[in-house]
Amino acid sequence: MVGAGFAGLSAAVRLADMGTAVTLVEARPAPGGRAYSFHDVPSGDVVDNGQHLLMGCYTQTLSFLRRLGTIDRLVVIPEVGIEMVAADGRRAVLRSMALPGPLHMGAALLRYRHLEAVERWRLVFGAARLVAMTRRDRAVLERMTVAELMDHLGQGERARRCFWYPLAIAVLNEEPALASAALLGEVVRRAFFGRRRDSSIIYARVGLSELYCEAALAAIKAKGGTVILHCAVERLEVEDATVSGAVLRDGRRLAADYFVLAVPPQSVLRLLPAALAGNRDFARLAELGSSPIVCLHAWFDREITRAPVVGFIDTTVQWMFNKRRIFAPNGGPGRPGYLSFVMSGARSQLEVDNDALVATVLSDLRQVLPASRSARLLRAMPLKEKHATIAVSPASNRLRPATATALSNLFLAGDWIDTGLPPTIESAVETGHRAAAAIGARLGRPRGGYGA
Ligand SMILES: Cc1cc2nc3c(=O)[nH]c(=O)nc-3n(C[C@H](O)[C@H](O)[C@H](O)COP(=O)(O)OP(=O)(O)OC[C@H]3O[C@@H](n4cnc5c(N)ncnc54)[C@H](O)[C@@H]3O)c2cc1C
Repeated sequence: MVGAGFAGLSAAVRLADMGTAVTLVEARPAPGGRAYSFHDVPSGDVVDNGQHLLMGCYTQTLSFLRRLGTIDRLVVIPEVGIEMVAADGRRAVLRSMALPGPLHMGAALLRYRHLEAVERWRLVFGAARLVAMTRRDRAVLERMTVAELMDHLGQGERARRCFWYPLAIAVLNEEPALASAALLGEVVRRAFFGRRRDSSIIYARVGLSELYCEAALAAIKAKGGTVILHCAVERLEVEDATVSGAVLRDGRRLAADYFVLAVPPQSVLRLLPAALAGNRDFARLAELGSSPIVCLHAWFDREITRAPVVGFIDTTVQWMFNKRRIFAPNGGPGRPGYLSFVMSGARSQLEVDNDALVATVLSDLRQVLPASRSARLLRAMPLKEKHATIAVSPASNRLRPATATALSNLFLAGDWIDTGLPPTIESAVETGHRAAAAIGARLGRPRGGYGA
């Protein structure tokens, strides 16, 4: 197993549970990949590389965390209740009702005060039509961007600004003019038009590494597996369309019956022999681009809001997470306010220097939450993930490969594999479990599911 992000760890744990002898190799000193946390000494806080949200429809991820015994480190908000505030200070709450799904979400949209009554009805019909398209007009949807989809669904400018685009950018990490409509349709179908609990917003009340990394390594080792950290795999050796070994950066060579590359697409290409990188299935991976997420972690002299999450409309910042409330929903022990601001698909912010980024975030915050105007910023820490996810467009969807490859004993895993989902934790874990199931089937081992 190469790579210790969500995909590699979920695959390794499931394979270890099937009784296979697993060796997991990770290039970095610690596991977690694009979803990790670290201890920030000046603040004493645990800081995630970026706020990660799960949803009730993340069945594979929740099953993985249940297996690890860390599911109680999640906070589940069963009724959606998200405050959305515009740059002019107008606010509205997207709040679901205690009705069976999908009526609970229909009720949320019909009471969403950023829109006029007629726009709300159009929004509900648009969402229902989108879900119908995921079943009956998939081919049409596959060709569209989110912006084209909005035209198709007759969604007006305000519905786009106040609902569709904040949602789309958050879940797809891409501009609506480029992003894949089919992936948005899948999210709306699973999260809004499924069971009521599927639309729950879920976040960890601990750092990401404590949520899954430490427990996953312990689970692999407890089953007799081997974990090698801080040592990249440099190349795979291939003979007769079969991987025969993996050569590590320190010169070691590992042999195995099966190999799983749970690494980003560019790493897959680097690990394969040059002759294979020209193979059609692998060559197309080179065309997968990436999209960034820029986060700013900021500590203030006071708590500015009690809301755990606030959506910003018409600003550079898209979402704000109140980490104090997320770590301690009933109020932290009198420590300074700690907010995390997120800008997805934010290519324009990548080259902006840190002072300018802080100034932009503070200006947005002061417009949206007037209570922040008297708060003093104590410290700010920008974290820019240049390759946060693959860039999802109608074209890139066609490039995403399956788990099985042209090499008989090589499998791929990662959020970028073709799952029909955006590149998210759920997509990563789903592919980890798929890779494990494929190997388990070859070995005649039980599937090793943990139940949803
Ligand atoms: C800031 C940010 C916010 C996000 N927010 C959300 C969110 O709210 N909800 C959500 O669902 N998703 C979110 N995501 C996406 C989520 O983090 C990813 O989908 C997920 O972490 C991908 O996991 P993975 O295992 O597929 O890949 P990775 O995490 O990239 O893991 C790949 C691993 O392979 C290792 N590796 C690479 N090459 C080699 C080599 N040659 N040898 C050994 N090891 C190697 C890497 O070091 C890495 O650890 C966010 C991502 C970012 C960056």
